[in-house]
Amino acid sequence: MASYAPDRIDPATIDWANLGFSYVKTNGCVKYVWKDGKWNEGELLKDFKVTLDVAATVLHYGQSCFEGLKAFRMKDGKVRVFRPELNARRMIKSCRSLCMAAPPEELFLSAVRRAIEANIDYVPPYGSNGAMYIRPFVFGSGAQVGLSPAKEYIFIVLVIPVGEYYVGGMGAPTKALIKHKLDRAATYGTGQVKMGGNYAPSLGPTLAAKEKGYTVLLFLDSKENKYVDEFATSNFAALTAPDANGKRIYVTPKSTSALASITNRSLCELAALRFGWGVERRRVPWEEVRSGGFEEVAACGTAVIITPVSEIHREVGKPKTSASAKTKTNSSSVWDDDDDEEEDVELDIAKVADQSSKFEGFRQLYDAYRALQTGDLDGWQTYGWLWPEEGI
Ligand SMILES: *Cc1c(COP(=O)(O)O)cnc(C)c1O
Repeated sequence: MASYAPDRIDPATIDWANLGFSYVKTNGCVKYVWKDGKWNEGELLKDFKVTLDVAATVLHYGQSCFEGLKAFRMKDGKVRVFRPELNARRMIKSCRSLCMAAPPEELFLSAVRRAIEANIDYVPPYGSNGAMYIRPFVFGSGAQVGLSPAKEYIFIVLVIPVGEYYVGGMGAPTKALIKHKLDRAATYGTGQVKMGGNYAPSLGPTLAAKEKGYTVLLFLDSKENKYVDEFATSNFAALTAPDANGKRIYVTPKSTSALASITNRSLCELAALRFGWGVERRRVPWEEVRSGGFEEVAACGTAVIITPVSEIHREVGKPKTSASAKTKTNSSSVWDDDDDEEEDVELDIAKVADQSSKFEGFRQLYDAYRALQTGDLDGWQTYGWLWPEEGI
């Protein structure tokens, strides 16, 4: 008889159809420690409290990265995870670029399986539209002050049952905002890496944008401010209008500073394989989007799946008045940068989808994608996207 943490949420009391996207206390998470050159056997942490070794962390200088993937209870009653080997490889890439010990692919997969098995009662039932969100993360730990790679790493896999990320999902087109003078990632920086440090800087501006009615921030390339990179949490995807044969083109940016989304990649593959649509991964000038070059625009990622975007507003800086642009000469005021960047902005509003658009193209993709994940799409097995084959 398993013993449970007393403060867990009893799965019998969960309203599966109305899950949002927030933390739920489950049976626990799995934790592995890397020390003296190797990963240990790992353990199930029932109480996700700050453990001693975490408390001993002095400073890991941003050596921290994460992943996000989902498991589904499918039509045959089995639980399977969507393309976890791609997340494992991306996490290895993230760890390498941050000079961290990386969990090998097999360890990643077995940790994911372990976390699911320990929490199998928290996987939303087939037909509920929910999923189990899996959040693996690694960070440098151990007491250390000098600037060098940590000597210890902790790898944790946490799972929670989730519903929709943005309320309304496919049925609720959203507005996005491009901020003036705010970059997400440098052209040759770490945008392609899922590291913690890439996300904290957009938290404040996202909250401020939400207060003004925007759902998400969109970023352009940081060098020229001319090409679309991606949203703060998800990739940018667009569809052209269907041609005479009903074929569309799926267009998504190629950029050295956008994260290579597994959802985006899968949607591209599905668009081509299932619908025979064209796929273009290339530079996408903002002007092409702004001037109505696409019929539909959406944000895509594991958490948001596909979120339709109907309008994108871009902040445009207004030239400084001569009074505020005065040159500083005083030795202490030359160091006073606070007012340098203050600038008024006005909004350039781009309606990137017709207001009456039903997002039919993305709706088709969404339905096929979701059906594939639940085992309702004919031939879902042929894609080889759900692991393990025999199910959990
Ligand atoms: C995680 C993430 C995505 C989506 O990637 P998926 O593999 O589809 O979940 C897109 N952009 C950013 C910035 C992300 O962090």
